[in-house]
Amino acid sequence: MQYYSTNKQAPDVTLEEAVVKGLAADKGLFMPFTIKPLPQEFYDSIDTLGFQEIAYRVADAFFGEDVPADTLKQIVYDTLSFDVPLVKVTENIYSLELFHGPTLAFKDVGGRFMARLLGYFIRKEGKKQVNVLVATSGDTGSAVANGFLGVEGIHVYVLYPKGKVSEIQEKQFTTLGQNITALEVDGTFDDCQALVKAAFMDKELNSRLQLTSANSINVARFLPQAFYYFYAYAQLKRAGKAANAVICVPSGNFGNITAGLFGKRMGLPIKRFIASNNRNDIFYQYLQTGIYAPRPSVATIANAMDVGDPSNFARVLDLYGGSHAAISAEISGAAYTDEQIAETVKNVWTDEHYLLDPHGACGFRALQEGLQPGETGVFLETAHPAKFKDTVENIIGEAIQIPEKLQAFMRGEKKSLPMSKDFADFKRYLMNV
Ligand SMILES: *Cc1c(COP(=O)(O)O)cnc(C)c1O
Repeated sequence: MQYYSTNKQAPDVTLEEAVVKGLAADKGLFMPFTIKPLPQEFYDSIDTLGFQEIAYRVADAFFGEDVPADTLKQIVYDTLSFDVPLVKVTENIYSLELFHGPTLAFKDVGGRFMARLLGYFIRKEGKKQVNVLVATSGDTGSAVANGFLGVEGIHVYVLYPKGKVSEIQEKQFTTLGQNITALEVDGTFDDCQALVKAAFMDKELNSRLQLTSANSINVARFLPQAFYYFYAYAQLKRAGKAANAVICVPSGNFGNITAGLFGKRMGLPIKRFIASNNRNDIFYQYLQTGIYAPRPSVATIANAMDVGDPSNFARVLDLYGGSHAAISAEISGAAYTDEQIAETVKNVWTDEHYLLDPHGACGFRALQEGLQPGETGVFLETAHPAKFKDTVENIIGEAIQIPEKLQAFMRGEKKSLPMSKDFADFKRYLMNV
């Protein structure tokens, strides 16, 4: 399958090039030329299939032309070694819990899948080592580092701002060792991102090292998130609730929801989508006005959604031919303040005894306010509430349980290299690795 750039100014590429390069030469995002619908018989029997079986059918539609069937199956089955249960919260609202993977957040699936697919391409081509650079404000670094841990032929450098990520998050990527190196940058998240960007632009560095990125612009990271939506539908069908399904996605960079929109294009019977934002409501404003006006992000308690210029908006536009009317027909929006998010976490805990994290709370609330009679809502619960322990405990006024997986990270020993925010230092370091 060939991939084109959303900016239409760069040559088409193969899947392998799209995965290795991440971003197109014209700075656009890669899109597959065709999105293959899945046959009706698949949707008719989807409720009899397991997560891995469903995901393999979806992965085959995306990647089957480029990856041998047995390899692709192994990649899918390895990636999805944990469940994604649908849990009933109220009469017509369900939570799809995406937090049962290694780092307890939904980015695990994309991170693991991309690591395995890139590993396959490296083995196949006998390529020299590939170096993944990833700047993180917390969650992305841990999912990517854990996904790539131990994958041969790949080394990961995680750049994170010193003193600006929580201890739990920091431990998830600084305690791993092996092929993962954590660089503790004396600066902000923006400085980390600037270092990564400068590294990709530097000719000398790129002639010495093969560099790639692993954020949600990469097709191998965002497309596998479509698996979630098919499995959500399968579980709704099992519960006899599949008619008029509405899926609500707490959104930041819009990678997750874009994967769901791909699913709908493949025939998945979802009636409509809701993109829920925090105060960084750029998409919500776009829906109201038809004008896309990015602006600097503001800090909120749902911090993984603090994005002021969502990268995957380019893919949403491309998918709907740039039509605001077509986008608005399938996606509606919502946006919440920190006070509203906190109120939702508290109320749902008190009334339903279900503990939301701040991101999932945005999703739940948009359904509570926006579901029409006869509709069933599913929100994606994108992270385990214990990842935001202090915030959540403050809101509900009770101590919460920390899952064993998180406790294990906390016991690990932090190892990181201090780095200045000066590109010359970062470059010198990479030239000598
Ligand atoms: C990354 C993230 C989001 C936002 O997902 P996008 O694909 O960037 O829209 C939401 N919640 C959590 C917990 C995240 O880590």
